[in-house]
Amino acid sequence: MSDSLLPIDPGAKRAILQAVEGLQARSTETLSRLVRHPSLLGDEASCLADMAEIYGELGLSPRRVGVDPAALADHPGLSPPLIPYAAGRDNVVAIHTPRERLGRSLMLQGHIDVVPVGAADLWTTPPFEPSVRDGRLYGRGACDMKAGVVSYLMAYAALREAGFQPAAELQMAAVIEEECTGNGALAVMQALPKPDACLIPEPGQRLLTAEVGVVWAWVTVTGKPVHVSQKLSGINAIEAAYIVSEAFRAYEARMNEADRRHPAYAGHNHPINVNFGTIEGGEWNSSVATRARIGMRVGVMPGYSCRDTKADIEALVAKVAADPRLAGTTVDVQFRGFMADGAIFPASQSISQAISACHRDLTGETLQPTAMHALTDARFYTLYQGTEATCYGPEGENIHGIDEWVDLASVTDVTKALALLIAGWCGLEKVSG
Ligand SMILES: [Zn+2]
Repeated sequence: MSDSLLPIDPGAKRAILQAVEGLQARSTETLSRLVRHPSLLGDEASCLADMAEIYGELGLSPRRVGVDPAALADHPGLSPPLIPYAAGRDNVVAIHTPRERLGRSLMLQGHIDVVPVGAADLWTTPPFEPSVRDGRLYGRGACDMKAGVVSYLMAYAALREAGFQPAAELQMAAVIEEECTGNGALAVMQALPKPDACLIPEPGQRLLTAEVGVVWAWVTVTGKPVHVSQKLSGINAIEAAYIVSEAFRAYEARMNEADRRHPAYAGHNHPINVNFGTIEGGEWNSSVATRARIGMRVGVMPGYSCRDTKADIEALVAKVAADPRLAGTTVDVQFRGFMADGAIFPASQSISQAISACHRDLTGETLQPTAMHALTDARFYTLYQGTEATCYGPEGENIHGIDEWVDLASVTDVTKALALLIAGWCGLEKVSG
């Protein structure tokens, strides 16, 4: 094990790893239980309530941490909310406090919100009915990232079964809105004592070293509606969206050029992606469309601020609005959802060294440092709290796609790694009684 971890008694280690093996059925049951909640944006309440139950079953006393945008209004990490924060949507946290502090404190956090299922009819089995086939558990959110949440829950349970508990504060959290704002994680970070490190079991047994930022923008084109028989005297808002698209394709190409790269992305093909994710518009097949609204996601290179990206988007939209082909229309932009900066998670930091050492100890293999083209809640800890953070979690595929699955063997492997991480980072003390 590495210098960054406390030594673990070999007998204790054996007992803990055996306990993880023994918890495999419970792990799969807990994951199925969580996947059954369709915890889409605005529908997280039942899953959060279940998380509170699960923490309780582990002997912890969970508490709720709401998101109060007014209280966070001056925080640079706050993203403009998409929907209000009703009480049922409050994040759930559980904190283990040791009898005597020996090691360092740790936050293990995961998001329970999931993205829409896409076309449900394309799934082999319904997305919110967990199905185990060939060692994989299928379901929306199974991999991203309810399996990660289960890994840290079972890691804690395994320590207890082996007769131990962390000898430092261990914070555990289930948060909302990782997929659209990150405001759940931000509220939790602000509400809890600063931990010595944060590890988020987002999918992938690799070492997260960098992530991009993201801005969500909503561009609305209001055209000139006429009867389709006079089509040439009107301007179709849906067709005008192509002009918006052209402008953003050129911007995307520019932002991926070599001189704009952070060194962490030097060897990457296309780290900055602009995605048109939704479009709504038009009223009638025989009317020239009055209005179209495009929901887009614009990637941000670390080192380039999301506020500058916002200004870029505003300038692009002003340019599109001035395009002679769109004379007589209006083009507006609104910002709701992600307003997030990119972040760097140095491979040399203690938490990264520690999880790498645990992974190597179990597998004999070295974790691959990876810079992501997406973002995670880990950014808050490093950007705004000066707390080391990284991600390491179970393997799977098709996240945000059809037939999302997680590899159940990797859930066990990650649970073992997290159990060793807790033991070596926090230290161990015997469960009393
Ligand atoms: Zn995720």
